[in-house]
Amino acid sequence: RAKDAGKNTYQFFSEQMNIHSLQQLALESSLRSSIEREELLLHYQPIVDAKVGRITALEALLRWQHPDMGLVGPMQFIPIAEESGLIVPIGHWVLQTACQQGQAWHQAGYDIALTVNLSPRQLIEPDIVASIEDILSKTGFPAEYLTLEITEDLMMSNPEETVERIEDLRQLGIKFAVDDFGTGYSSLSYLKKFPIDTLKVDRSFLQGVPDDSDDSAITSAIVAMGKNLRLNVIAEGVETSEQCDFLLKQGCRLMQGYAFAKPQPAEEVSSLLDGTVGTFQVLAS
Ligand code: C2E
Ligand code: MG
Ligand code: MG
Ligand code: MG
Repeated sequence: RAKDAGKNTYQFFSEQMNIHSLQQLALESSLRSSIEREELLLHYQPIVDAKVGRITALEALLRWQHPDMGLVGPMQFIPIAEESGLIVPIGHWVLQTACQQGQAWHQAGYDIALTVNLSPRQLIEPDIVASIEDILSKTGFPAEYLTLEITEDLMMSNPEETVERIEDLRQLGIKFAVDDFGTGYSSLSYLKKFPIDTLKVDRSFLQGVPDDSDDSAITSAIVAMGKNLRLNVIAEGVETSEQCDFLLKQGCRLMQGYAFAKPQPAEEVSSLLDGTVGTFQVLAS
């Protein structure tokens, strides 16, 4: 009977959900101890001025060296970290570790800027400004070299408070970038309202460049708009020389993607910092 079938279906789903939430719970509890067990690490991916083949900044990207699961990417655990609130201590660890490493590069003579992803949850923490100020003063990393990447959804969910926080942090000298631009729900008028420096064009648009005319149109429109608003524009997920050529023609020279370098451990990045980077340095001449 339909009623029984309905009941069975319900039981089936609820069992699935239990397995799912048990896994989540297990992951959450091992994530909770990941900091003190020193299982978290950062990889760094170059942001390149493709016109001259020079690295202008490095984006810090979080990884988790899990005892059983191996190297786990952020997509698999950032959502759990956000739901559980663990993103606050984890985000603190990320900022501190990135600034420490950045300062070590500066002391080694590399004039490199850093960008760090910030979760919505972090920006609304009451002590976020003091906490970042503390990290900067303890590590000695200059605020002017630090950009924080935030998403559009964050700006939209709590615009007044967000603008206030961003302004406080900008007073320290920190810059802001809108990450994954074009995928969120922001209205374009927010770009005017928000005190930001940089737009990062989401890599989903780059995928179809230059063959897909829609993707190409969207990408060039975002680049043109960013330039007119006097923002820096960074194209994310650049994988081919065709994409690189297209972007340079649109006047977008800041790029990030596998075409130039994958995210990698600090030691490996150090050797990249000594020279130009990527397959397309030829374009410089
Ligand atoms: P994101 O900030 O947009 O970072 C760029 C992502 O694109 C990275 O994935 C990077 O490895 C990947 N990527 C870069 N170039 C290419 C390319 O040419 N092709 C392809 N297919 N992918 C490329 P990753 O490292 O897995 O990070 C995923 C997301 O996790 C990040 O996206 C960011 O939203 C979040 N995330 C990473 N680290 C942190 C962190 O420390 N804190 C927070 N809150 N979020 C983080
Ligand atoms: Mg980012
Ligand atoms: Mg992005
Ligand atoms: Mg992304």
